[in-house]
Amino acid sequence: MKFGGSCVKDGANIRRSAEIVRDYARRGCRLVVVVSAMAGVTDGILEALRCAEEGREDEASDFIEGLRRQHEKACEQAIKGEELREEVWRKEIEEIDELRKLLSVVAYLKEVTPRVEDYALSFGERLSTRIFWASLIDQGVKAEYLRGWEAGIITTDDFGSAKPLTTITYQEIRKRLNPLLERGVVPVVTGFIAATPDGVITTLGRGGSDYTATIIGGALKVDEIILWKDVDGVMTADPKLVPDAKPIPRMSYDEVVELAYFGAKVIHPSALEPAAKENIPIRVKNFYNPSVEGTLIIREAEADTVKALTMIGDAAIILASGVGSSEALSANIRLLDLLCRLGIQAIMVSQASSQANISIAIPRKDLEKALKAIRREFAAGELKVDYEDGICVIAVIGSGMRGRPGVAARIFNAVAGEGVNIKMIAQGSSELNISFAVKEDDGVRALRAVHRAFELNA
Ligand code: ASP
Ligand code: MG
Repeated sequence: MKFGGSCVKDGANIRRSAEIVRDYARRGCRLVVVVSAMAGVTDGILEALRCAEEGREDEASDFIEGLRRQHEKACEQAIKGEELREEVWRKEIEEIDELRKLLSVVAYLKEVTPRVEDYALSFGERLSTRIFWASLIDQGVKAEYLRGWEAGIITTDDFGSAKPLTTITYQEIRKRLNPLLERGVVPVVTGFIAATPDGVITTLGRGGSDYTATIIGGALKVDEIILWKDVDGVMTADPKLVPDAKPIPRMSYDEVVELAYFGAKVIHPSALEPAAKENIPIRVKNFYNPSVEGTLIIREAEADTVKALTMIGDAAIILASGVGSSEALSANIRLLDLLCRLGIQAIMVSQASSQANISIAIPRKDLEKALKAIRREFAAGELKVDYEDGICVIAVIGSGMRGRPGVAARIFNAVAGEGVNIKMIAQGSSELNISFAVKEDDGVRALRAVHRAFELNA
């Protein structure tokens, strides 16, 4: 089971999370624990790196001081035994000091490479997980503290979003964790961080401790993976935007992948894969509300027509039209290829049948870069390019819409009923998802209207 940032927000929460583990262990469950950095720490380290890089060393030092206080307090709250606490705190200080030195070097060099960034980020999970481990020991649970690589997670060197080398990783995880489990020891593993075969530290991408948990779950073929978070499960929509959103009891892996792709921050998008491959159920539970069932993610869930909505704000649409339709197709392919090379994610793409028009929704932050590159690439004028800013994309997701007529009509009726104009529409061939773009100002109204139309709050 994995404990996300808010479960380890402070020492009291770490203690409570450790109690949850203790209770499972007492009932005779064999379990592996994966822990995230304390809330705010990963963002904090990133910010401190920026400060150091820009020579604002004072701010970087303030961060280190804050980090120290946060973890010292956490040790006090989570570990009662004095001797153990002192021993743990000594190791914590050593690591905080290592991070402090790293920030000074960055301030000196005025440069942060992706490799250095991953190394710096690794401290968040190292610090929190050691405290979590000690809290278990403190409560009489046999446990062992392991960094991601010590648990066997070996990755490519794509710093910032490294991919596990599956064969070796699975072998290593079994080799290292099974003996512990057989002895009744609970492995407590840092989420998010791993290493290359040469031992260089990497990270699995933001929110990556979900992924750590499912990789380990997949390797050990566990019965269930539990992700403890601060929400009642995967919600029908973002409750901040749709107040009557509610948790979804059961979803399929496919549906969650689709949601994650469209920016719903429920679960790390790659995390579904190891679980889906071994057909291991994932349960998303609320740490603050553990009696609620949460969401169960499995291979085949009830095929409700529409299950969840998500909205990506801060988008823009690029409208490209070919001059002559004969060259237009190849121009469109070149256009998509160009965006891909620039590393710009196309949120949705739609093409009119004449092949002379293509609309691509992209994140607004990438708009300028995209336009500049397009103008350069198509300098001969084979493609006319226009754009629209201030857009948001709404994705409507549910495997039950497959082959069922009338779903699109219901969506667009609801949106029309609000007098909202639709800019762009796309439906994937999997029919798991219909997405459409509207003006940013109309987004929330459209989202709520669709939520109502499918009685998702009922
Ligand atoms: N600490 C990392 C992050 O904030 C990983 C995680 O929380 O899952 O992205
Ligand atoms: Mg985090």
